[in-house]
Amino acid sequence: MAVNRIRALLVDGARRLERLLLPSRCLLCAAPGGGDDLCAACAAELPRNPVCCTRCAEPLAQPAALCGACQREPPPWDTAWVPFRYEWPLDRLESRFKFAAGLAAGRVLAAQWLAAGPPPSRPDLIVPVPLHRGRLRRRGYNQALELARPLASALGIPLRHDVLERVRVTNQQTELDAKRRRANVRGAFRLRPLRAAGLPLHIALLDDVMTTGATLAECARVLKRAGVARVDVWALARAPARR
Ligand SMILES: [Zn+2]
Ligand SMILES: [Zn+2]
Repeated sequence: MAVNRIRALLVDGARRLERLLLPSRCLLCAAPGGGDDLCAACAAELPRNPVCCTRCAEPLAQPAALCGACQREPPPWDTAWVPFRYEWPLDRLESRFKFAAGLAAGRVLAAQWLAAGPPPSRPDLIVPVPLHRGRLRRRGYNQALELARPLASALGIPLRHDVLERVRVTNQQTELDAKRRRANVRGAFRLRPLRAAGLPLHIALLDDVMTTGATLAECARVLKRAGVARVDVWALARAPARR
């Protein structure tokens, strides 16, 4: 186990112990809570994504099956389930989760995701988008896997994090436009050699935040080339795509 994950778990354990001894507080507004990490008022403020493209989850002004971009050029996956928009105050929880060993924030986000359910489809397997080894070592945990674990166990769907492997370090996607994001992740993922046999026909690829979908598209292509018939994309939140 990566040293940083152990450190994150220790910090998390200390915070849990503190919560047992002290009254719990909302992670966003610090209001004293009834044992939850997020108060009801803050939970109600999380930006939902109810009207969106069924294929890429881009928020839409009017209900429609597909956004313009997906009508012109559909992505390599089949459907998307992305219940939130990446906006305030969800972005605050997400950055705490991702950059401050905030496993409690991750648990809150997974619980909110489950409460927004049920999923529109029932895949045979959930596969989180992998981190590169180096980044995993530095962060200590893969945020996609931390979200996938509670979802998989609550939904009773198997989870495997050893299907895909990120073989190339990619630049942070945040600063790149859509075209550069695609180039940045091309060839960055591969199927672990021993995993090609025995993949089910229907897989949900899971990530925390989806922006242009370049990373998910690259992973979906790898799975489809390996014979997976249907790939759904599950992400917690949709960030506005810069096309
Ligand atoms: Zn609150
Ligand atoms: Zn779309």
